[in-house]
Amino acid sequence: MPSFQTSPGTRDILPPQATRWRRFVQTFADVVEAAGYDHIIPPMFEDIGVFLRVGEATEIVTKEMYDFEDKGGRRVALRPEQTASVCRAFVEHRPTTPWKVWYAGPNFRYEKPQHGRYRQFDQVGIEVLGVVDPQLDVEVIALASEFYARLGLQGVRLAINSLGDDGDRERYVAALREHFTSRLAELSDETRATLERNPLRVLDSKRSQDAAAIAAAPSMREFLGPDAAAHFAAVQDGLRRAGIDFVVDDRLVRGLDYYRRTTFEFTARGLDAAHTAIGGGGRYDGLVEQLGGPATPGIGFALGLDRTLLACDAEGAFAPPSSRVDAFVVDTTGGLHAAELCTALRRAGVRADRAWDGRSMKAQMKSADRSGAGVVVIVGDDEVSAGTIIVRTMENGSQRVVARTEACDAVRAALGH
Ligand code: AMP
Repeated sequence: MPSFQTSPGTRDILPPQATRWRRFVQTFADVVEAAGYDHIIPPMFEDIGVFLRVGEATEIVTKEMYDFEDKGGRRVALRPEQTASVCRAFVEHRPTTPWKVWYAGPNFRYEKPQHGRYRQFDQVGIEVLGVVDPQLDVEVIALASEFYARLGLQGVRLAINSLGDDGDRERYVAALREHFTSRLAELSDETRATLERNPLRVLDSKRSQDAAAIAAAPSMREFLGPDAAAHFAAVQDGLRRAGIDFVVDDRLVRGLDYYRRTTFEFTARGLDAAHTAIGGGGRYDGLVEQLGGPATPGIGFALGLDRTLLACDAEGAFAPPSSRVDAFVVDTTGGLHAAELCTALRRAGVRADRAWDGRSMKAQMKSADRSGAGVVVIVGDDEVSAGTIIVRTMENGSQRVVARTEACDAVRAALGH
């Protein structure tokens, strides 16, 4: 056993997966930057107050927060998500609206580690501040769909719901409390505790004991005020026009307390039952105000990188990229020529590697083979005196002797570039 291993719920992202992660973020950036979203990088820890606003009744805040006092006596927390940070940044910097930003990076939640559930996990996401238009809700959802399509991920299901406006939600929560209180005896102990804290979260219970009471619970739909109902209808209409498949799921309340009106969640058919959620989001029309800013509507989503890649694995989509180099230089004269040739090749846009430690021709050829390079450049004493190199195409073993000055062109030609 090594002396140290990664902490529970954290992992090393090893090659070639780390490259896949970077491509994932780059693909996301391509999709959202094409729609006018700008990159933002909030800090990884903040005053805990920023996250407490997310909802004091949510587990993310009450049980799962990595919070601590720093050496200056400040109460800080590692961010459990980035929406609150983006809203805090909006209030702090007051950019003009609509403010459309995207982010990528790790979040931290003290959860029970499982396959697909980590204590440090990555998300990519977007947020838009300053727009109430339901057409924006459609655009936001469409961008997530477009991104999944760009990854080649097919088995994605979209569920949407509306949580209404402030008053609507409160009336619904009161009705839920009354409903579940009247059936208290049926509920599991855990769910009774949840009911105390947050009746909405009872709807998330997956325990079979709670299923009947949940099935009989009132639906949010009955509590939507006229504005929220019209907004929800417009979102559904827009999604249909955009050709985006969805189901309306009355029970979709999502983890964070700040959601108003539209909420949505993407699940992957390819994942195990317990962790099928690969992304979600919604409107949070009161959050900026709670953080001390002017009344500003907001909407966004966060997509879980770790879990989306697991979903890709299940479908064989978005395969890890190959880390192969294009060319490998074998130098039997000590290595200085390999250094020169590698530098020239790399500058010419050819990925090139070499062997070290003055190893034998045979050992270097073995390394060349292992590198997966399509072309091997060979320099020995004879080539050095003749001012030439040997360019060997690995696929068929054919070799050409070319002038050293032609090295880059000859390698590119052999690679078919
Ligand atoms: P949330 O911020 O809770 O709405 O989560 C958005 C997405 O982030 C989820 O759909 C998951 O894909 C992902 N996610 C949330 N928590 C975790 C976790 N502990 N480990 C891995 N992925 C997570």
